[in-house]
Parts: sequence; C-alpha cells; structure tokens
Amino acid sequence: MSDTDDKKPLGLKGARPGQVKQSFSHGRTKSVVVETKRRRVVVPKPGAAPAATGSSASPSSAGTSKKDGPSRRPAGISDAEMERRLAAVRAGRAREAEEAVSRAEEERQREEDRERRRAEAETREREEREREAALKAKADDDARRAAEAAAPPAEPAAAAAPRPAEKPAERAAPRSTPVRKSEREREDRDSRGKAREDGGRRAGKLTLSAALDGEGGRQRSLAAMKRKQEKARAKALGQGIRAEKQVREVQLPDTIVVQELANRMAERSADVVKMLMKMGMMVAQNQPIDADTAELVIEEFGHKAVRVSDADVEQVIDAVNDSPEDLQPRSPIITIMGHVDHGKTSLLDKIRQANVVAGEAGGITQHIGAYQVTTESGAVLTFLDTPGHAAFTSMRARGAQVTDIVVLVVAADDSVMPQTIEAINHAKAAGVPMIVAINKCDKPDADPNRVRTELLQHEVVVEAMSGEVQDVEVSAITGKGLDQLLEAIALQAEILELKANPERAAMGAVIEAKLDVGRGPVATVLVQHGTLRKGDIFVVGEQWGKVRALIDDHGERVDEAGPSVPVEVLGLNGTPEAGDVLNVVETEGQAREIADYRHEAAKDKRAAAGAATTLEQLMARAKADKDVAELPVLIKADVQGSAEAIVQALEKVGNEEVRVRVLHYGVGAITDSDVGLAEASGAPIIGFNVRANATARTAAQQKGVEIRYYSIIYDLIDDIKAAASGLLKDEVRERFIGYASIKEVFKVSGVGKVAGCLVTEGIARRSAGVRLLRDNVVVHEGTLKTLKRFKDEVKEVISGQECGMAFENYEDIRPGDVIEIFERETVERTL
Ligand code: GDP
Repeated sequence: MSDTDDKKPLGLKGARPGQVKQSFSHGRTKSVVVETKRRRVVVPKPGAAPAATGSSASPSSAGTSKKDGPSRRPAGISDAEMERRLAAVRAGRAREAEEAVSRAEEERQREEDRERRRAEAETREREEREREAALKAKADDDARRAAEAAAPPAEPAAAAAPRPAEKPAERAAPRSTPVRKSEREREDRDSRGKAREDGGRRAGKLTLSAALDGEGGRQRSLAAMKRKQEKARAKALGQGIRAEKQVREVQLPDTIVVQELANRMAERSADVVKMLMKMGMMVAQNQPIDADTAELVIEEFGHKAVRVSDADVEQVIDAVNDSPEDLQPRSPIITIMGHVDHGKTSLLDKIRQANVVAGEAGGITQHIGAYQVTTESGAVLTFLDTPGHAAFTSMRARGAQVTDIVVLVVAADDSVMPQTIEAINHAKAAGVPMIVAINKCDKPDADPNRVRTELLQHEVVVEAMSGEVQDVEVSAITGKGLDQLLEAIALQAEILELKANPERAAMGAVIEAKLDVGRGPVATVLVQHGTLRKGDIFVVGEQWGKVRALIDDHGERVDEAGPSVPVEVLGLNGTPEAGDVLNVVETEGQAREIADYRHEAAKDKRAAAGAATTLEQLMARAKADKDVAELPVLIKADVQGSAEAIVQALEKVGNEEVRVRVLHYGVGAITDSDVGLAEASGAPIIGFNVRANATARTAAQQKGVEIRYYSIIYDLIDDIKAAASGLLKDEVRERFIGYASIKEVFKVSGVGKVAGCLVTEGIARRSAGVRLLRDNVVVHEGTLKTLKRFKDEVKEVISGQECGMAFENYEDIRPGDVIEIFERETVERTL
C-alpha cells in the first residue's frame, strides 16, 4: 500500500525500508538497509476517514494532525470513530479554555490580594510612625513638665522627681514592641518582593500555598529560614554578625604589653602582632611596646588613643595646691660648688665648726649629706654637700631641684679652673643664683681681684666689679669672712622669698641612700614641702615605707622634720636612689600600690627600651658596637651617691672609638659574685672607699681579676681614662719631606727604568715612602728601589741636587712627573 514498495527491487512486502549506518574502527563505515514490516491494520472502508497511526497516537498530536485536513486521514478509521475522536478533542479544547480563564481570574485575584496587603501594611506602618512620634512628643512634654515641676520648691520637686524617671521607662517598653513589629513587617515585605522577582515558579508555588493556607504565613517563614541560614553560615565562617565597627577610646600608658593593648582595643592579639610586624617590629604578645608605637597601632585599627601619663594611682600624690596664706618662710638650701681642692669641704667644715678634712683621704668631698647652720643674725641655712657636680646634675635630671643658692668657691691663689666654669654653667642651667666665695685669702699669694677679673670672662660680674653677684673674701683656715658669707647667703635667701607649706603631707628629695648593716635601708631626705613625722607612711621612688625613726644632722632622733630640714629616714622597705622624691600618703595600701606601679612601669620602660627596636636598628647598633672598643669595669662604692657620681663621670670618658662600659655598680664590699662577673667579662673591679672581703680577694687572685682601690674620684677617673686611651689605635701621621721632578728617564740593565731627577724641595730619602704624581694626580705609591747620586747609592739627597731614582716594582715613569717623598710616624693618642 505504501508508495515506497514499488521503488524497492528486493524487499519485504508492506515493509518500510530504512538505512542504518554502521561505524567501525579506523573510520570505516557501512550502510545497511533495514526493512521493518508494518502492522496490518483493518480498514473497514478503504479511502474513507483518516486515522491516527497507532504508534504515534497522542491526543494532542491527533488534534493537530486533524487540523491539517481530512485528506491525510489514515485509512481504517470509521466515521463514528472519527466523530468520537473529534468530540473528544473539542471537549479538551473547551476545558483548556475554561482552565485558562479561571487561571487568569485566579492571577488577577492574587494580584489584587497582594495590592491590598501592601496597602494595608503601608497604612499600618504609617499609623505606627505617627503613634511613635506622638509618644515621643508626649514623653518630651512630660520630661519638660517634670523639669519645670522640679525647679520650684523642694517638696513638689521631690514628689515629681521619681515620676519622670519611671515614666520614660514604662513607655520605653511598649514602644519597643511596635517598633520591632513594624520592622518584621518590613522584612516580610522585602522577602515577598524578592519572591516576585524570582519569577513565576516561586510566585506560583507561594500562591498555591497561600491559597491553601488562606494566608501568607508560609512565605514569611521561608524568608526567615533563609535569614536564619545566612546567619548560621556567617557564624560558621567566623565572621559573626559584624555590625558597625566600634571606635574605642584606648587608655594608653607609657608602655603597654601587646596583649593588654589588644584587650583594650577589643581586637585579637594575633592581629595586633601582625600589624606590628607590618610596621617592622617583631614583638611577641607578652612583650611591652612603647606608647608611641602603641598609638600608631591604635590608629591603624581605627580607634582613639587616650594617653594617660602616670597611672591613676599616682594622682593621690599630686593633688595638693598650696594657697598663699598657708605658705611660711623656709630656710634656703645651699650647694657649695667649685674646682677640686679649692676648699669646698674645708669651708663647709669651718661653717659647721667641725673638722672633717683631717680624716678625709685626699681631701676630697666623698659623702653626700646635708647640714643646717644658724647665722649670727638667726637665719637658718641648709648646706648640701655633694661630691663634684655630678650629683647636682643627676639630681636635677631626676626632677629633684633642691638647691636654692650655689656658693661658688674659687681659690684666690689658683683662680678660675675648668670645674669652676662647669659649676658656673650648672648654676646657670638650673637658674639658681650664685654667691662667689673667694677662698684661701689668708695665703700670701692670694689675689682676689684676679679671681674677680677672670670670672668676668665667664659672665659672672661680682658686686666689686659693679655686678649683681655677691662676692665674699674668705679663708676656710682662719675663718675670715665666713660670717659675711653666711650673711650674704641669708640676704640672697631673703630676696628669693623662699616659702613652703609646713602643714601639708610631706614631700622631699632623697640626697643620699644606703643600706646600713644595722639599720637597714637609710635615706637622707631633704624635706621640701610639709612636715615629715614619725609614723608617716610614704612612697619614695620605687620603694615605700613607714617612718620608724628620723635622725637629724647632729645624729639625734627627732619626731618631725619641716621644710628645708634634712633628716635620715629609717623604715624603708628598700634602698631608693639619690634624687628620688619622697611623698607621704594616707594608707599603706596606697603606698604599696604606687611603689608597685612605679616598679612595674620602670621595668616595662627598661624592657621596652631594649625590646621594641626594629631589626634595622638592632643591626645598626651591632655594627656600631663592633667599631667601638669597650673597656668594661665594675664599680663598688661606699655610698650610692659616690657610685652614681663615678658612673656618670666614667660615661663621659671615651669617644666614638672607645668607651667605658660600667657592667655593674653597687654599694658595699667587693664580693665573690662581683669577682665572678668581672672574670666573665674580663673587667677590672674598682673599689671606691670599699675593700674586697677575704673570699673575694682569694677568688680574684685565682681568677686573675684585677681589683683597684681608690679614695679620690679624680684619680679613679684619670686611671680609667689612661686605660681607655690604651684601647685607642695609634694615629698614623704623614709628613712630606720633599719633592723631586723627573727630567729624564733612562733604562739601566739589571735595574730597569731609572728617573733622572732634581730635588726641588726638602729632601729625598731612600727609606721614605714615595708617590708618583702626574698632572697632580697620584699614579703610584710605593717605595724606592735605589737612590743614586752620580754612580753612588746614597741615603738622602738634599734640595737643589740631581739624583737618580727607581721605584720598587714600578716602571711607568715619564719625564715631567713629580715625585713626592713622605715619611709616616705613629702617634699615641689619649682621651
Ligand atoms: P675641696 O676639694 O674643694 O673640697 O677642697 P678641700 O676643702 O679638701 O681643701 C683642699 C686643700 O686646701 C686642703 O689641704 C685645705 O687645707 C686647703 N685649704 C682649704 N681652704 C683653705 C684656705 O682658706 N686657706 C688655706 N691656706 N688653705 C685652704
């Protein structure tokens, strides 16, 4: 029946031919003809109604094929069948149209629904906002009314006062609920909007559930789920719910440990360490850094640094402000300064009517103390006795300016010396008035006027030269002029109008401190403000204590010491340092807290200075250290003041090549452990007015450690200076001894090139060094191989004579070149 049947030469009857392409390996293909036999269909009326082919019969395709026309109706379908099928198709179409209509209707309703809900939400929100505004206005109103009510008489105010406080609190609660509700609604709307944007699928699904539930509840929970998941994921990733970054005010002391800094910023300490690394600092979490670095870090993290100088604990001390009516006159504090041996100690002794000089080795002031004297006119003067000027400056450096007047001692037989000038400079730098005591006026060769004239050169114009500075001629031996000196001091003090409040908590400066075997730590304190009493609790530097006893300058126990009175204080828990300030505080707890704080701060500061350096700095320091020769020493002295004075003086010894390094200094006898330290570093031990104990002596002998004893600071310094000079490399100096110009160049067999020269200047010496200059440029430097005058080898040739010269290992000599002859000498250097 099919038309294909005729075309096929061979094949099955009623079969549909087809071709199958077979593929083999190597790209070979082969086409095979396949014939499939059709199923036989019973056709009641040939050529009548079409029928769908059995294999591809689907209602829709049947429908569409129908439209194509009856001519293509497959054979074998009865009219009735056809009718039935068409009816079915029509019914299907009608149903489809109906469905479309209802869907459109549904969609419209949904849309309306949505619109309505949105409008509702908006009105609700608007209402909400209005209500809030009204509430706020009412609250403000209430507050204002309460404030107005509080202002008039006390009683109604008391009654009204609690109400405004309560009311806002009451109102705050209900207000917060609607706010939260409206927020939720806004979120809901947002999520719904998102669902719409997602497209029909999500919307349809949502509408279906909405239709089922008759509410939008399911939709909301989905969004909530999504938010919840989002939160959980963020949490799992460790991001947290990062709100706005908080800017914190970070309290920043002088030094701070990295971890503490991180805590105060509420940042992770690892991040802080990382940041420091970026800044070129390798610091661990538990290491301290200085405030400047910390401030940079704080800024990098976006916080604000608030510098706190000394911790709050110190504030108990500084709170006193004296009013003028509390102030009472106090005695002046005088420091005697001047060149060594000009008679400082003798003068002080004469003033005190005691003879310390005789018993003192070398006649130099070695002990720091303070003494009070009363003048004939009744003025009380406090004299401070310092070894040299170092103590004066070191006290000043530590903030303890205790001197009111400087007495400059100048010996009339010696005049102005280096330390006199130093003393003048110190006094000027400290802004302290001076009085010149021209000493040793009893001596026959004394010339006080020379002293006065020489002082002029240093801008010290004495009264005798119509200046402002008082000058007194004295003799510490005969006592001549001492009274005038004291009166001059008293007069100067009067001009200064020195005052202090004796009633406040005592404050003073440590002049001298030592560890006494019998009495424990002892500090000589010069009271500056207030009155120090027995039983007072105090803090001094890093130490604290309770006054157990006060001993005055006569060695007598006293109960109290007022302004400008020097006393020895017993009852310390440790030895303070000269220059430390003593403050009386109220409780032992405060004293301990401050002392602890200072101790920690000092420790941190030392550590910070050492640790917080960049690698570059470390390398630079290491390089500098390599170039500097060091003379290590170990110092032991009788009192702290002397030890410090020695250390300061030694620090000044040296230059960029050599320096003295004080490994350790302390007070007391030289012990075994000192010897051990000295041996380890190859350092000598310097004992100033102290001796080594027996074990230390033997240990030093065994280990070959040198121990030197001194009782005069200047001897000590001179010796160390000499030793340090020994470390200096000898200086090599060059000296030109002559010049010669080359006239001709000969070639001599066995010798090489020889220059025929004329010595133009100085002398040519065989042993000297030579340089060959061509157009004033050095082309060679070396030594001479020969120096000949005529045929003879000579040692030297003087200016104006001709000679022959040949260089050692150098041949390139030309006529017109100049030979420079020089000698080298080594010069020993000193510091
Ligand atoms: P310092 O180093 O400045 O303390 O000087 P000293 O007080 O130790 O005195 C050094 C030396 O000078 C000692 O030998 C004193 O006897 C002596 N000397 C001090 N003052 C006078 C004086 O006024 N007249 C005489 N002739 N000798 C004095």
